[in-house]
Amino acid sequence: MRICRSRFATAFLVVSAFLPALVRAQGAAPTLVLVNGHIVTVDSAKPEVQAVAIKGDRIIAVGTTRDIRKLVRSQTQVIDLEGKLAVPGFIDGHGHYMGLGQSKLQLDLTKAHTWDDIVAMVAQAATTAKPGDWIVGRGWHQAKWDRPPVPAVEGNPVHASLSAVSPNNPVVLTHASGHASFVNGKALELAGVTKDTQNPAGGEIVRDVDGNATGMLRESAQRLTGPARANSEAGRSAAERDALSRRVVALAGADALSKGITSFHDAGSNFATIDLFKTLANEGTLPVRLYVMVRGESNERMDSLLDKYKMQGYAKGYLTVRSIKRQIDGALGSNGAWLLEPYLDLPRSTGLALEEPESLQHAAEVAIKHGYQVNTHAIGDRANRETLDIYERVFKANPGKTGLRWRIEHAQHIQANDVPRFSQLGVIASMQGIHTISDAPWIPSKLGVARTNAESYLFRSLWDSGAIVTNGTDTPVEDVDPIPSFYGMVARVTKDGSVFTPEQRLTRAEALKAYTLNNAYASFLEGQLGSISVGKLADITVLSKDIMTIPEREIPTATALYTIVGGKVKYQASADVPR
Ligand SMILES: [Zn+2]
Repeated sequence: MRICRSRFATAFLVVSAFLPALVRAQGAAPTLVLVNGHIVTVDSAKPEVQAVAIKGDRIIAVGTTRDIRKLVRSQTQVIDLEGKLAVPGFIDGHGHYMGLGQSKLQLDLTKAHTWDDIVAMVAQAATTAKPGDWIVGRGWHQAKWDRPPVPAVEGNPVHASLSAVSPNNPVVLTHASGHASFVNGKALELAGVTKDTQNPAGGEIVRDVDGNATGMLRESAQRLTGPARANSEAGRSAAERDALSRRVVALAGADALSKGITSFHDAGSNFATIDLFKTLANEGTLPVRLYVMVRGESNERMDSLLDKYKMQGYAKGYLTVRSIKRQIDGALGSNGAWLLEPYLDLPRSTGLALEEPESLQHAAEVAIKHGYQVNTHAIGDRANRETLDIYERVFKANPGKTGLRWRIEHAQHIQANDVPRFSQLGVIASMQGIHTISDAPWIPSKLGVARTNAESYLFRSLWDSGAIVTNGTDTPVEDVDPIPSFYGMVARVTKDGSVFTPEQRLTRAEALKAYTLNNAYASFLEGQLGSISVGKLADITVLSKDIMTIPEREIPTATALYTIVGGKVKYQASADVPR
């Protein structure tokens, strides 16, 4: 790949009069052109081109390399793609932006092979931690370890090993699922947990045979460490807090850009975090474009503040706020997804309704009043049905409001009768291809084989019914990398090599659209983003491998070479990355 400024630009003064796009570009010299590419535009008017010209933050022409080269002037930066694939910048349709950044400040336990690996990581962190600092990690999973810990209680370790390597610094290590944390003795002490401490409602302090806490805190018991952690952070000055928040934003952005993400749907953030995003957008320091769902605010506060916070393409398209996030149920893995029929492995339960339908409906009414989209987390088939019912009721009560594009986040398990309701109601299925790969091996243990095959991750059924299907990663639950999640929708190949309900696969062209134009549509930005089209913002990702043409099993090996946001190269892979 070569980048150069043209020395012979003045030689290319003649622009063909037969190319309307080029004619429009006359007199407007591009600042950046990409040539010699396999450019898949996701624009049905011109699906594939070789070259694209950009002026400032906009695309001004697309066409053949020969034609686009004619536009080059002395000030034009030229990137020769050498046949590589360029696509519209990937838009992550569902992730947690600050959570992604925070995860970079914590120990990454996802790759540990044993409990001893984790103890060693904590021991290392303890050598540099200041007195009283909390050592925080996330992502451990006992099922991923080569051997069980010794000693163990219910398959999980006891805190003695962790307490030995970190006697003075409290340690909290969150499980991959987020539904449990493992802490050391110092953390238990600071949390005030003794032999006599009762389990909190909705949680469990796991104990050994003598009744002593092992360090494992399930569900709501995780919150027992909250006051002590907040205390340790209370001494921070406003400047320290601001610096930390900015660092978190930058870390998330650097990770996203390095993987080809140019826009990110944040699900979601409270008003204070949106204030920070707005400040950064004004400064021009937001790394990627953000579509922020309002979360963690009461219906009353939303009713009074949603109008003030509404932003559409603010600061050159870097910040949009016009949606709210709700959550009606939990996750399938922890039997928290709300089901129509009981769990196969927990027959007394149909899961959890985390938010009463009445409360969700009230939030939806507040949203529609202020012209906001509603994006509701719904995983189980009952949760999806209830959410569709609520949306339908609110739509019927507001016949004058159209084009609402309300979304269901995850939309993982859907009963057949409910599938066509998405397109009938104009509800978007905001899905995550990567979750298919992670969940497929154990879904049948929860739902049984028949229900799994009929209801789980219905990409094809939803798509063919006319629903808009989008893709994302739910990062930091999964890596923000779009390639595995694209592959999940295209291949549905699980880790053991089997294909999970192959009839639900999407084509590569459909999966690319799900990750680009459909996410733009799901954020009301399809006029600005989502395809490589003249007049749109110049957000483009160049990949090391052509994921539209290489053998399917090679798709996961593709990486980002360039990430261009608003005509600026914001990430470029180093020269030693295999191409
Ligand atoms: Zn999420």
